[in-house]
Amino acid sequence: MGNKKSKLKPEILEKLIKETKFSEEELNKWYKGFLRDCPSGRLSCEAFKGIYKQFFPQGNSEKFAKFVFTTFDENKDGTIEFEEFMLALSITSRGTLDEKLNWAFQLYDLDNDGFITRKEMLDIVSAIFMMVGSAVKLPEEENTPEKRVDKIFSLMDKNKDGQLSKEEFLEGAKNDQSIVQALTMYDGMV
Ligand code: CA
Ligand code: CA
Repeated sequence: MGNKKSKLKPEILEKLIKETKFSEEELNKWYKGFLRDCPSGRLSCEAFKGIYKQFFPQGNSEKFAKFVFTTFDENKDGTIEFEEFMLALSITSRGTLDEKLNWAFQLYDLDNDGFITRKEMLDIVSAIFMMVGSAVKLPEEENTPEKRVDKIFSLMDKNKDGQLSKEEFLEGAKNDQSIVQALTMYDGMV
């Protein structure tokens, strides 16, 4: 019985070999681990939040985990399938800087309209502040979410229209590694 489920469907395996940076052997190994932690084959938002909680026991990571969950959940059906998990993992752990930044853009662009507004940036940055708590000491001029967003926008919003286009974001984020830092912690998560 369990046999049928514990094997990754050949068509999904093939797709993932093509579209991720993982080998067949790695994918099979990840799949085993994924099924062990999510016997249903789907990762729920609650379970996802639980993983973040382990990484950030001091802070409140719920909001940030929810944002990341939504980005992982590409088909927006409310759960993360193995396929979605590996596609996101491939980018966040092994992607090029450009791939990571494109992924980060999707995360920050909450309403998916192709621009990051101050409000969207503030939502994410506030969630990150809540998550890391006082673990990270920031300089005085960016030690609140509002100040941090002001700083980011003063650096990235070249045409001063109050929102970041993808070009502005990619360009600016290359000069500020902290934008992607928060996204590269999933290796070895499951
Ligand atoms: Ca999904
Ligand atoms: Ca937007």
